[in-house]
Amino acid sequence: MNIVLIGIQGSGKGTVVENISSQFEFDYISTGLLLREEIASGSRLGMQVKEIINKGNLVDNQLVLDLIFKRLRNNKKANVIFDGFPRNVSQAKDLEKLCELDLVVYLNLKKEDAFKRILNRLNCPKCGLTTSVDKAKSGICPSCGAKLERRADDNEDAINKRFEKFYSETYPLIDYYKKQNLVVEVDANLKPNEVADLVMRAINEHNYQK
Ligand code: AMP
Repeated sequence: MNIVLIGIQGSGKGTVVENISSQFEFDYISTGLLLREEIASGSRLGMQVKEIINKGNLVDNQLVLDLIFKRLRNNKKANVIFDGFPRNVSQAKDLEKLCELDLVVYLNLKKEDAFKRILNRLNCPKCGLTTSVDKAKSGICPSCGAKLERRADDNEDAINKRFEKFYSETYPLIDYYKKQNLVVEVDANLKPNEVADLVMRAINEHNYQK
C-alpha cells in the first residue's frame, strides 16, 4: 500500500508517522529527512542543498526524484508512506511512473496555527525526531539522547517562503488527487492521537475495501 501525506509545514506529518508506527508497518520516505541527511554527510551536494533549503526554496525536482528512486529500489516493505513528496504536480507525475498510489491523506491546518507550531518545533539532528519546546524541556532527544535543535529553515523568512510554495505548488495536488478519488482529509488541529486514529481508520478502510 502506497500512501502520500500532504499538509502545510507544521501540520504534523512526522508526528502522525511516529504515532501510527506501532500499529502499521511501513517504510517511511521523507524527502526533507533524506535531504537533511545529505547535508549532515558534509558532501558537496549537501552544501548546495543546504543553501537552498535554508532560504525556504524547493530543491531541484530531478535531485529529489533520484533520492526517492534510490530509496524505493532498496525498499523491502509492503507499505510505503511518502512525506514531503510529491510537492508539485510534476513530481506527482514522476511518482506515478515509479509506483501506484492507494491513499492520499491531507492534514488540513490553518496557516496561522502552522506558524505557531513551527516556531515551537525542535528537531533531532541525529535520528530526525520532531518534537516541541513544550514537550522536550530538557532539550535532549527522548528517542536517541542527542541534543535537540531548531531546524535552520524554521526561521520567519524561510517559513513564509515555504508557506508560499505550499499554497502555489503543493496545494493544487489536493484537487489533482481528488479527481483520482484518493484523498482523505483529516483535521490536523485535533490532538495528535486523534489525528493518528483518523489516519489509521482511513488506512484500514482502504484495506477493507480492497
Ligand atoms: P520538509 O522536511 O518536508 O519540510 O522539507 C524541508 C525542505 O527540503 C523543503 O523546504 C525543501 O527545500 C526541501 N524539500 C523537501 N522535499 C522536497 C521536494 N519533494 N521537492 C523539492 N524540495 C523538497
